[in-house]
Amino acid sequence: MTPPPTTPYRPLDITVPFPELRGYARTATRLHPRPGAPTAADSSVGGPLLWPEDEAWPVCREHGRVRGVRPLRARRHAEILRAARARPRRADGAGWAYTDAERAEVQEMSDAGHQPDRHDGGPLPLLALAQFHAHDVPDLADFAPPGKDLLQVLWCPFGGHEDGGFSDFGPSTRLFWRRAADVTGPLAEQPEPPVVEHARYLPEPCVLHPERIVEYPWADYLPPVLVERIDAWEDALQERAGRAAPTYQYDLSLAPGWKIGGWDSWHRTDLVPVHCEACGAGMRLLLTMDSTENQASWGPFPPVGSPTGVAAGRDEYRAFVCPADPAHPHRMSTQ
Ligand SMILES: [Zn+2]
Ligand SMILES: [Zn+2]
Repeated sequence: MTPPPTTPYRPLDITVPFPELRGYARTATRLHPRPGAPTAADSSVGGPLLWPEDEAWPVCREHGRVRGVRPLRARRHAEILRAARARPRRADGAGWAYTDAERAEVQEMSDAGHQPDRHDGGPLPLLALAQFHAHDVPDLADFAPPGKDLLQVLWCPFGGHEDGGFSDFGPSTRLFWRRAADVTGPLAEQPEPPVVEHARYLPEPCVLHPERIVEYPWADYLPPVLVERIDAWEDALQERAGRAAPTYQYDLSLAPGWKIGGWDSWHRTDLVPVHCEACGAGMRLLLTMDSTENQASWGPFPPVGSPTGVAAGRDEYRAFVCPADPAHPHRMSTQ
């Protein structure tokens, strides 16, 4: 049996040279999603949700006629790709070893792709993206409203929504908190949208291997004098150890990959603080979705590709929530 993925030891403890960083430490739960067969009782990405059978499934009403990819077709395509990649590559260097039947099927799909499937208006059922039980994901407790222990995330698998101000770059997400014990009659067959804008908005069913770690902030959150000292320390380390020297940004502060809690990375843009639209409070990072967790010394061995198949926004798609009131709307941000 494959051992569960865990974070390799940090190359060094950054709080030894910089004890003042301890005041900025935050825990995060890395989720380490891996393809599997989660049930509605499990924490998962892309698995069935523990949804009450007497509660209406949420829909998006912002679209008229839309075109996209049928989930069934996208899943079959992913399945063929996985099978081909599991075989040795072709000896003539011409790529993945598809069988003739698979090649014909992929060709047929790509021909059909020129006439995308349609949804002819009407409410579009949201897509179940993930659910997290507090007993699996310890950092969820920092965010859960009183009495709630299950977070469910759904999204509309199309971009171009008005809500949140930030979400023109990705799907519109909805967060639902509930008490798992309240769901006595769970919904057996959950609805899904007939089409999704991109196959990368369709999560591969993954089980989670939650692991709690400690993170330190993105440098722009630290006092400039401290950052100057960290920079000088890195330069000295690099002089001694060369390119193998760990760096604060890539090795010693923030973990890549799917996680709950922790600190937010701003590697693509300047830091843009996220504020609550209802009360103006600075918002706190709840969920990070990431296309990969292979980064510097944080990556698992052997490296994984993108187990969930989900890629939204740029590299990361993050949900921020209001620390003052969990009922205030969350906001999405990308890096
Ligand atoms: Zn929508
Ligand atoms: Zn607020």
